[in-house]
Amino acid sequence: MKAKKRLFIGLLSVAFCIILIITAVLWYIITSGYRLSENILSILGILFSIMGFLLAIGLILTSLTLITQRNIGACNGIINSVLRAFLPLAVFLGRFFGIDKDKVRGSFIEVHNQLIHSEEKKVKPEKILLLVPHCIQWSGCPYKITIKPDNCRRCGKCLICEILFLKDEYGINVGVASGGSQARRLVKELKPDAIVAIACERDLTSGIQDVSSLPVLGVVNERPEGPCINTTADLEKIREAIDFFLKIGDS
Ligand code: SF4
Repeated sequence: MKAKKRLFIGLLSVAFCIILIITAVLWYIITSGYRLSENILSILGILFSIMGFLLAIGLILTSLTLITQRNIGACNGIINSVLRAFLPLAVFLGRFFGIDKDKVRGSFIEVHNQLIHSEEKKVKPEKILLLVPHCIQWSGCPYKITIKPDNCRRCGKCLICEILFLKDEYGINVGVASGGSQARRLVKELKPDAIVAIACERDLTSGIQDVSSLPVLGVVNERPEGPCINTTADLEKIREAIDFFLKIGDS
């Protein structure tokens, strides 16, 4: 496990310990015959017990999947649901420890990508959607590419040019979205079986949560001029993600 993945898993482990302590205290109070608000205490005790149980299962299965790099018991869906549910708690704890929330989200994306990598399913090129954020387009470009990416003249001033070459090379779909609702609309229209999404940590984590039924590999963008303007991304990582879904390079 790389250090980046360990951050999210570590924060979830801290969350588990806190939940465990709260649960133990609650059950101690309940069983020691404390009368006031007994029902509320019992409800809280049950709630924290369930949370602790789910988190423990999620943590054990995630760690086993990351270590073995196999989809253990085909339960990636359960693991992903648990991880997504506890992401806000991990971000909250990260802030408490002075860790930037994008760092926590980046770690979540790494863990999520690794879980997707443990799946075997091969996807046809035409069923892969490469989702690109509009901010990757050069800010001075006069061509509108959100409706039709092929409006790009491939002048080479931004990564859109290279992305369209990838589209031609692989035969995949490319969608350029200026926000979450446009991305959701593209997914609804194109009905992909797998998505490679380029975005910032915040948009990637919310996008992964939005399309929980589909495998999504996230590539975090690079922001040399700050957020949302003239962004770019590692083309090799994009290529690796597409190759993974197409199972190119697998023996
Ligand atoms: S590569 Fe395409 S989108 Fe980028 S600046 Fe040139 S024409 Fe515009």
